[in-house]
Amino acid sequence: MTVEKREQLYEGKAKKVYATDDPDLYIVSYKDDATAFNGEKKGRIADKGVVNNTMTNIIFALLEKKGVPTHFVEQISDRDTVVKAVTILPLEVIIRNVAAGSFSKRYGVEEGTALARPTLEFSYKKDELGDPLINDDHALALALITEEQLATVKIITHKINGILTEFFLDKGLKLIDFKIEFGTDNRTGEVILADEISPDTCRLWDVDTNEKMDKDRFRRDLGKLEETYQAVLGRIQA
Ligand code: UDP
Repeated sequence: MTVEKREQLYEGKAKKVYATDDPDLYIVSYKDDATAFNGEKKGRIADKGVVNNTMTNIIFALLEKKGVPTHFVEQISDRDTVVKAVTILPLEVIIRNVAAGSFSKRYGVEEGTALARPTLEFSYKKDELGDPLINDDHALALALITEEQLATVKIITHKINGILTEFFLDKGLKLIDFKIEFGTDNRTGEVILADEISPDTCRLWDVDTNEKMDKDRFRRDLGKLEETYQAVLGRIQA
């Protein structure tokens, strides 16, 4: 299959999206730019784009194999991947297994505290509002998602959490929490997993040392950025 980039449709903080000659396919291109705190902190992590592209595709292929529908079609270079054209639902879906980050802060729970059960939350994707926490009722009231789509998103997200928790544990990594995004397939209307799953969007701690092996190293100035991203990819490819 030869699919080539045509006009750029969108540039986000970490990726660009291009049209192709096929209206049902886009190409996503991963950048090395790193941002945090709603874009307030900016930086660059060498070859992050290569790591995130490769890691996302390995994981999406695994999820497809386990029956989770995704936008993944084919990786065409170290930073570029052909995906199904989708319309992203304006909700970030976060699932947590262990307290960390904003959850720890909001509820006064020490980071690293295991949660009694995996917990799901949504943020409203709206940069100018700083992606606020939103509940099911609000999302439905604002018609950001339908009831049926919401039910599908919840079921798929819990399934992904189960698959990924086991996958990462096998690589010596604890899956603390992660963020995913869904889209509706422009051709079929089906709700499918889109965006990425990478150290930018997951919290991953070494099982033995609890060392943070994710974007918190950038957010919190912990150093060893390039090295950590490469190490995570290395473990996943092992
Ligand atoms: N996350 C993300 N993008 C965002 C916000 C959060 O990928 O815009 C991920 C983050 O990496 C973590 C999880 O979602 O794995 C939960 O993040 P949290 O709400 O604790 O926010 P943070 O501490 O990053 O502000």
